Amino acid sequence: MILTAKSSKSAAQSDSVLIAGAGPIGLTAALCLAQRRIPVTVLEAGAKIFDDPRAGTIHPPTLEMFADIDVTEMMLARGYIVRNYQYRDRRTGVVADFDLGALTDDTPYPYRLMLEQHKICYMLLERLKTYPCCDVLMEHRVTAVTQDDEGVSATVETRGGAKTFLGRWMIGCDGGRSQVRKSMNVEFSGFTYPERFLILSTRYDFEPFGYALTNYIADPDEWCALFKVPGHDERGVWRVAFPVDAQSPVEEIFNEAAVQRRMQGFHRKDGDYDVIHRNLYDVHQRVASCYRDGRLLLAGDAAHINNPLGGMGMNFGFHDAFNLTEKLAAVIRDGADDALLDRYDRQRRTVAQEYLQRQTIENKRNIEQNDPIEREKFYDELRAIAADRAKLRSYLLRVAMIEGVRRANAID
Ligand SMILES: Cc1cc2nc3c(=O)[nH]c(=O)nc-3n(C[C@H](O)[C@H](O)[C@H](O)COP(=O)(O)OP(=O)(O)OC[C@H]3O[C@@H](n4cnc5c(N)ncnc54)[C@H](O)[C@@H]3O)c2cc1C
Repeated sequence: MILTAKSSKSAAQSDSVLIAGAGPIGLTAALCLAQRRIPVTVLEAGAKIFDDPRAGTIHPPTLEMFADIDVTEMMLARGYIVRNYQYRDRRTGVVADFDLGALTDDTPYPYRLMLEQHKICYMLLERLKTYPCCDVLMEHRVTAVTQDDEGVSATVETRGGAKTFLGRWMIGCDGGRSQVRKSMNVEFSGFTYPERFLILSTRYDFEPFGYALTNYIADPDEWCALFKVPGHDERGVWRVAFPVDAQSPVEEIFNEAAVQRRMQGFHRKDGDYDVIHRNLYDVHQRVASCYRDGRLLLAGDAAHINNPLGGMGMNFGFHDAFNLTEKLAAVIRDGADDALLDRYDRQRRTVAQEYLQRQTIENKRNIEQNDPIEREKFYDELRAIAADRAKLRSYLLRVAMIEGVRRANAID
């Protein structure tokens, strides 16, 4: 059931799993639990699904996991399949073109799928409506969480005043500023980049100029990333990401003349660009020091945040949600020892540090490399990878996130 503040019950069943946040990760965790007939209550601060342009890239292992809960077909019907993507130099053009077909023996989905994250959320919400054991409560902001040996208690701010929700377990999927994480005995250390990322969206079609549907465009002064997503009317929207000085005032960055200058600097064309969205994001690299504190658990951006180059953050959060809910279900339904949840922490936190953080930091360092010798060395590596099928497969296993899932699953 999807309920508003007015219609919600004052307290959830005490044997429920409480989930803070109806973002992509919270809704995925909810669906995985609901499908196992485990009662679940999702508490979401917003009045509706957050639909700012954020994630748009879905990697192969994510499609494999969603196939197990019958969501992948729906995603494939709505998104764009990207079979190859380009690495470019902003001044000289294509450096390497990566054919994801090299993963054919490793996954039934040897491609990336471009589909906006809020559309995935709506698909998951539709599915959740069919499970009476699941409530999704909008306008329910978790403000405090306590726990004892028996369960958890969440204080929730609603339009009807403060309410208390009781549950056996609670999963914090409430994003980078997670209130659940703040109620746990964990740190969220790492760093924030000095620049922000600006995303401009336009219907102007870049494909006739040789661009792939996904492109990373290196430059020491102003790198870009260019992607095509289906867009609101599913006729296609191109998103261009640029780094911007964190000190520049927002009005200056969003100023029409400045936006046009930036777009024309990237790709000159006759007449103005029709820029339909402009968004600015702070960018951080952080991982929680533990994903479990007793009955409180973390998944998604509440557990780890990273820069979006490589399109990994949300995918990684999905992988958390599938891993965690399988273990939590074993504890709740089959009486498994709750030490299994420590294994979730070990598996997913280790790969967040070893793999997600390392890869995304490296992606940003490479795209903005200002040492010409290092840059050429990197380009030569990419050319060698793209030209050799075995090297390409091994590279793609890493950047398409297959290696991270395998590594996590191998951790005891
Ligand atoms: C520009 C950009 C591009 C990106 N591109 C990609 C990409 O291509 N691929 C990829 O994998 N990742 C990408 N990411 C990362 C991706 O957007 C995030 O990893 C993803 O949103 C994380 O999902 P989540 O559900 O953990 O958190 P969120 O999406 O942040 O959702 C958290 C939810 O919790 C709610 N909430 C917050 N506080 C509370 C509270 N106290 N009580 C109740 N509810 C609360 C919020 O309203 C929200 O609905 C990108 C990010 C950005 C900024």
